[in-house]
Amino acid sequence: MQTATGEPVEIALTTNGVILARKAQSLKDAGLKRVTVSLDGLSDATFRRMSGSDVAVATVLEGIAAAQAVGLGPLKVNMVVKRGVNEHEIVPMADHFRHSGIVLRFIEFMDVGTSNGWRMDDVVPAREILDRIAGRFPIEQLDPNYTGEVAERWRYVDGAGEVGVIASVTHTFCNECTRVRLSTDGKLYTCLFAGEGLDLRMPLRQSEGDRVLTNLIADCWGKRH
Ligand code: SF4
Repeated sequence: MQTATGEPVEIALTTNGVILARKAQSLKDAGLKRVTVSLDGLSDATFRRMSGSDVAVATVLEGIAAAQAVGLGPLKVNMVVKRGVNEHEIVPMADHFRHSGIVLRFIEFMDVGTSNGWRMDDVVPAREILDRIAGRFPIEQLDPNYTGEVAERWRYVDGAGEVGVIASVTHTFCNECTRVRLSTDGKLYTCLFAGEGLDLRMPLRQSEGDRVLTNLIADCWGKRH
């Protein structure tokens, strides 16, 4: 897949992994490359408290294994850390994904509007997460892959792989953010917290053409504040 100017388009998927075991091969065949799976703990009880779903952790792990088996990658696992709920899973999760080739990233618990009852007391700062990992497995910092990368990269000194932290609360990075998100109903959002998105479905369905769509997206991006 290419852009209108001939550059490769990289398609990435972030998923809860629930049906990934069934869909991994077809996603790979469709050209998907990067996959990030959300997994907030290794025990079903913790996972249930964090996700609010009854899905078994084993189901998500099977999805991750299937994605690896069909060659989807780079693979990442995102773990949101909430004080008193799953912080005890930080080191077990790190241990589980060492030597796996999968980059585990710990994300500070973020305020996402009115839906999650966020309090600062619920946040386990990225520094504390790193200290806990380093207390068990020595780590050292790596350079970012690119300017504006939101995750701080670290590697295990013993060569067991890479781990990351996303300090979305204690070290905000909005001024460097270059992300847009396209929802399943075709709306383009320039921020996770945007209340409204730009409708691209209608112009797409009306076959307005790449130029019109490009201008719409550029205009929307230019109005970010
Ligand atoms: S601009 Fe929005 S999406 Fe980007 S880092 Fe800030 S809060 Fe997150």
